[in-house]
Amino acid sequence: MLEKTEQLYEGKAKKVFATNDPSLVIVSYKDDATAFNGAKKGTIVGKGVVNNRMSNFLMEKLEAAGVPTHFVKEISDRETVVKKVSIVPLEVIVRNIAAGSLSKRLGLPEGTPMKRTVIEYCYKCDALDDPMVNEYHILAMEYCTKEELDTIASMALKINEFLKKFFASIKVELVDFKLEFGKTQDGKIVLADEISPDTCRFWDAETHEKLDKDRFRRDMGGVEDAYKEMMKRVLG
Ligand code: ADP
Ligand code: UDP
Repeated sequence: MLEKTEQLYEGKAKKVFATNDPSLVIVSYKDDATAFNGAKKGTIVGKGVVNNRMSNFLMEKLEAAGVPTHFVKEISDRETVVKKVSIVPLEVIVRNIAAGSLSKRLGLPEGTPMKRTVIEYCYKCDALDDPMVNEYHILAMEYCTKEELDTIASMALKINEFLKKFFASIKVELVDFKLEFGKTQDGKIVLADEISPDTCRFWDAETHEKLDKDRFRRDMGGVEDAYKEMMKRVLG
């Protein structure tokens, strides 16, 4: 039987535990919320459950659609067994509609549709505030190989096409989102981390109401209700 052993890591939103199987870890989702690289801190009651269950549901669907993921088995409302991977130190951001930092950087009003899907990369490094990097930086710094980066980009686009359709079917616009990828012990690139209202911007397709972590970042209120509404729409 799989057993949890020592805690390997405590992050801002999750804890990661080793298990008696060296190829597997258990992630445990917390209600802790942070924004602006940890400068803003709070709690979103029930968030850990929403993010765990939503992420697992979406990763199972993605697996069925041919996207390899780290997902193995949900073991409780907050805990999931995943393949242990070595995380590629990149935040892969996919954008369909301008919002957040892109709107600021390019002076585009939030809500402007992008004429083509945009992929951005940030180097995952809290001490440097996750700086944006391009393909040249990534290869020069050897964050991953060219072949791995090509795989990551094509997986990110495939994930976007799948998720856009899925969210449209539940009347949600998928504005943008962040993905992380990891390498399994046999060298395969898989989707890792989570897909949740913490890592995606979700807008109601009709009212454009925000149903994601921007409600926390921007002190809009109704944060818990937005997470609950997204869980209800996704899981039925
Ligand atoms: P942060 O590290 O940004 O505070 P979290 O609180 O979400 O983020 O912590 C979860 C950590 O676990 C992240 O560093 C993430 O990259 C890492 N991680 C996600 N999936 C896996 C996996 N399958 N194997 C190993 N590490 C993982
Ligand atoms: N994002 C994330 N983690 C980060 C940075 C961004 O999950 O550390 C997600 C964020 O939720 C949004 C998308 O990536 O869905 C794009 O975020 P943006 O670059 O606009 O940054 P922000 O406005 O959040 O600072």
